[in-house]
Parts: sequence; structure tokens; C-alpha cells
Amino acid sequence: MRNGTASVAAEDLLDHFSGTPLSPLAEKVAKGIRLSFDDGVALFESPDFHGVARLANWVREKRHGNRGYFNVNRYLNPTNLCWVDCGLCAWARKPGVPGGYTMAIEEALSEAASGWHDGITELHIVGGLHPSLPYEYYTGLLRALRARFPGVHLKAWTMVELDWIARIGKKPVEDVILELKAAGMDSCPGGGAEIFAKPVRDIICTNKITGERWLELARLCHQRGVPTNVTMLYGHVESVEDRVDHLVRIRELQDETGGFLGLIPLAFHPEGTQLPDVPPATALLDLRVIAVSRLMLDNIDHIKAYWVQIGEKLAQVALHMGADDLVGTVTEETITHAAGAETEAGLSRQAIEALIRGAGREPFERDAYYERVIRDETGRVVRANRHDFAPASAPPVSHPGPEHGPATIDPALASS
Ligand code: SF4
Repeated sequence: MRNGTASVAAEDLLDHFSGTPLSPLAEKVAKGIRLSFDDGVALFESPDFHGVARLANWVREKRHGNRGYFNVNRYLNPTNLCWVDCGLCAWARKPGVPGGYTMAIEEALSEAASGWHDGITELHIVGGLHPSLPYEYYTGLLRALRARFPGVHLKAWTMVELDWIARIGKKPVEDVILELKAAGMDSCPGGGAEIFAKPVRDIICTNKITGERWLELARLCHQRGVPTNVTMLYGHVESVEDRVDHLVRIRELQDETGGFLGLIPLAFHPEGTQLPDVPPATALLDLRVIAVSRLMLDNIDHIKAYWVQIGEKLAQVALHMGADDLVGTVTEETITHAAGAETEAGLSRQAIEALIRGAGREPFERDAYYERVIRDETGRVVRANRHDFAPASAPPVSHPGPEHGPATIDPALASS
């Protein structure tokens, strides 16, 4: 028994698969033997969908029991101006095109403060590759956020953005990572990984950094004590082999650094992109990607089901097919919604807990370290991110409250 769920014994798992085509893979999974590239392809192609799901759920429950993790976070997209022009992107705007915006640092602070009633413990910060913002904007924004929201985890800038910030600053990226870390960058989001294979990138994001560069930057972050997440964008022009190659390359880097916190599979949403005729991913593909990711990534703790992209109900199912984390409340998500997502732009803490409970899992509000967030009876955060928050009688530094109101800037719509 772990975290409230009785795990199925390995012998029972093997009995179930005895004599079936998945039996050799079940044996590897039960014995903790690493799956090969060919195994990954076989899992994607197996007609035994339920069998793949059962294997992934076995691993998921062995690692996490009945817990369904989430956090209370807010998205902050300081600018949607971007010169890169990725075929996959429905969010970014080129300079001079209607709908573009850039927040001054004060505006970004105001935006970050809105929705604070839920006691946010993490800010997720990504934006476009702005052609002319100076290097000091990025360090200045982090410093300002750190000063205004002490104890709140700043998950800022993807590998794509780090590469760009270093180019703007005309500095070695190794130095830039350390300077951003000193300014407040606690970890990095996993965006921009897409699919690492070059033929795919040549179609969906030809001007973006290469897959090799993305991995190199993640390595540099990990080596400097900055953990990162990693994504996989599926459901466009990639092959099964491209997906497995992506997962294997992640696994190899994780062997080397141990710096990946979790994988977020991202379903491609075609609406408004340069690939509008690609059919949206099916529910079966969404679930299969999560399951195979859980089975292939034996050295990554968390596989996330991003409810914004696959929908709340499918995310509940995913909690039984390899996923252990629903990402977060994601107040004010705009990027996937620009590409046609019909989910809510954010959920309250109570709503996401109900979602997890409704899936038969035990909600676990985590912080950036996957430790439990402590709140008082009013919902105010008392401890998170290994930080004791100021008492309620103190000036409302950590919880600015509703007087800050919603930001006047309306972040339109790209994920780096
Ligand atoms: S996906 Fe990121 S890098 Fe590409 S156009 Fe959109 S914002 Fe720019």
C-alpha cells in the first residue's frame, strides 16, 4: 500500500499479460528493466490499448500511489511579440500586427497580482521572442517579481527564450543562466522542445532553435542548479518513431543530469496555426502518449496531464493511464486558447481538487518541490516552496488581494 492505493503485485500483472503479445514488455516493466526504442514503438502501435494503459497505471501507482498532484499557479505572458513565426503557433504576433502587446514591468506585476485570492504558489512565465526588449528587462522583471512575491516559485523562460535572451545580452548563455537565477529564476518551463527531430522542426518551427540546442541548454541549466520541465508536442506531422526518439533523448539527458522535473505531453491544436488542416489529436492518442511516456521515462518522476489541452474529463482518465499531475489551476491560460482550446482559462483550487477526487484520486496540492502546500483555514498559504509566508496581519506582500484587480492588458495569444 502506498499513498492509499494497494498496488497490484508484479506477479498479478504478469499473470494478466501471460500469453499475450504484451507479455515480454510486461515482464520488463514488472522487473524494472528499461524499455528500448523498439519497445516504445511497439507500445504506440499495440492494438491492446487497455493493456498499455494497465502497464502505465501500474507504474504510476507504484511511484505515486493514489495521489493526484496539482499546484495553484498563474500564467504570466509578458509579451506576445515574436519574430520566429513558428508554423505551430496561433498566439504570437509580429511587431505592428494588431493584437500584439508588451507589458512594462509594472504592468506585469499588476497582471501577476490579479487572481491572488487563491494564494498562488508559482508563476509560470513565458512569452514571445521580442525583437527589441533589452536584456535588463528580463533580469529586471524577475527581480521585481521576487521582491513583490517572496516565496512564490518563479518558473521562467523556456530554453528557446534563454537562447534569445543570451543573444540579446551578447553574453554566453552559461553566464545568462546564472544571472537570471540570481535575479529570481527558480526553474524553467518545458516549452519549445516540440519534437526534437529536424525534419519535423523544419515543418512546424523552422526558425526555432534545433532540438540539439534545446537539449544543450537544458543540460546547462541543470548543471547550474536550475531544474527544468520538458514538453512533447504531438499530433501534427510527427511519426511514432519521432515521438519515441524524443522520449529517448529526454531519458538520456535525465540519466546525465537528473534535472527534469516532469514531462508535459502537449496536444497540437491546429486552429489559427499555419497547419490548420491537421486533424486534432484524438482522445485515444492523448491517452496513449501519456501512457507510453510513463513507461519509457523510467527516470522522470512526473508525467503531467495538461487539462487545458486535453479537457478536464480526459485528464481525469489520464490519472489512471500514467499521469500523476494535472499541472495547475493555470489562471488566465491564453496560449492554447488562441489555438481553439474550449476548456476554462483557469480553475479554482476547489475545482481542480474536485476534478481529481472525481477521478478517484487523492488531491495533493504540491509546491515546486512536490511537497505539500500548507494553508490555514482561510486558504492562505502558510508554507510552500520551503518558505514560510508572512502572517495575515502583515502587509499583504505575498497576497496582494483583490484591490490589485485584473490587469488592463489583455494578453492575446504562442508558447515558446
Ligand atoms: S511558438 Fe514561441 S517561438 Fe514560435 S512563434 Fe510562437 S512564441 Fe514565437
